[in-house]
Amino acid sequence: MRISPLSSRLLRRAATAALAASVLAPFAGHVAPAMAAGESHPIVFPVDGPVRYTDDFGAPRVGHPHMGNDLMGTKLEREVAASDGVISWVQDGSSGNGGVMLKLQGDDGWWYYYIHINNDTPGTDDGANPAQWRFAPGIQAGSRVSAGQFIAYMGDSGDAETTAPHLHFEVHRPDGTAIDPYWSLQAARHLTVTGRTVAVNPLGGYYVLTSDGTVHSIGGATNYGYPSFGSGGAGRAMAVMPDGKGYAVVDSLGGMHLYGSAVAALGNIITTPYLGVDIVRAIAITPSGKGYGVLDGFGRTFMAGDAPSGPTARWMGWDIARSLAFTATGKGAYVLDGFGGVHTSGDAFVTPNYSYWLNWDIARTIVAAPTGDGYAVLDGFGGIHIRGTAVNPTVGGSWVGFDRWAGMAYAGNGHYLMVDKLGGSARF
Ligand SMILES: [Zn+2]
Repeated sequence: MRISPLSSRLLRRAATAALAASVLAPFAGHVAPAMAAGESHPIVFPVDGPVRYTDDFGAPRVGHPHMGNDLMGTKLEREVAASDGVISWVQDGSSGNGGVMLKLQGDDGWWYYYIHINNDTPGTDDGANPAQWRFAPGIQAGSRVSAGQFIAYMGDSGDAETTAPHLHFEVHRPDGTAIDPYWSLQAARHLTVTGRTVAVNPLGGYYVLTSDGTVHSIGGATNYGYPSFGSGGAGRAMAVMPDGKGYAVVDSLGGMHLYGSAVAALGNIITTPYLGVDIVRAIAITPSGKGYGVLDGFGRTFMAGDAPSGPTARWMGWDIARSLAFTATGKGAYVLDGFGGVHTSGDAFVTPNYSYWLNWDIARTIVAAPTGDGYAVLDGFGGIHIRGTAVNPTVGGSWVGFDRWAGMAYAGNGHYLMVDKLGGSARF
């Protein structure tokens, strides 16, 4: 790293002067550019959070020129994919120049290097290189990623051990030659893909749905395909078939996207109730796999096949309903509102006024107990609130004051899976 506040101040002043000239003298024949821009390639900015960086490409380093830019940030800040693509290579050892690092090959053929990824236990500089604090959960060589998806934690591994935490970021053309990333970073879109749902596959592994419509397979879950809505897309919720051989994705406009065994089971009972309105919030498949329900933000439930009737919760014009679940028998349903109110039908477990955060939209997901009566509610801080026969979490996961978590599923043996707003997932 080499910070040069004076030169960046001068560059800013020059840029401001050029802008002022163009505004004040619109008929001037010629306005000189503030500085010659270098080659730029379209990317998503690779860090979700504040960083400082200068154009330090080519600066002298021990034995070689600097091949990237150093984005100075904070330890464990989230590094995100600069492009749709595949993680082509990872190094999980923390020694050597680069330390913990990865390479992303974009679908555009370009290469993106992420170097000095975290190798410390949170809150320390111990260099212990704990596995869960290097890459985002599920990220490994071969992982398919979406632009803006959380892929790694910022750190100081390798020869950055004695410096401040930063991402050393490189951009290489398809032929492997590095370009100065500075101009691409300046022009980058600041985008994060939103994590929506985490869903367990009963045959093994689990899925994370992100807002771009991607179904990410983690831990060996079979991927049967997914819709692609692109950045800022309408991907909203998913549910897995009880046989583990398919799933349904619903978009926020009510479009149903079926894969694997869900095509035959649900294909003839599909309805698309809300074309053009961004209001769908959740989907659940019945335990038999012969029906499903869709919940909109106003609390209306649209049930199909052998799904039970839904609760009568309705908040017309107010987008506050958050989550839908069927009971273990399939004869009742839960609707969760954002304040933590739980609304029930059929044989669902009734606990009036339990876990309300009135006027505070912080409840995120409800999960029915796998057997018997009860449920677990996830709040945005990661708190899990248990009622009835729902299983207590083996490991807690609460970050008070940090509204981070978006979805939850029960993974068995006292463990819950959670997905956060950036699509990162973890087991608790
Ligand atoms: Zn560097």
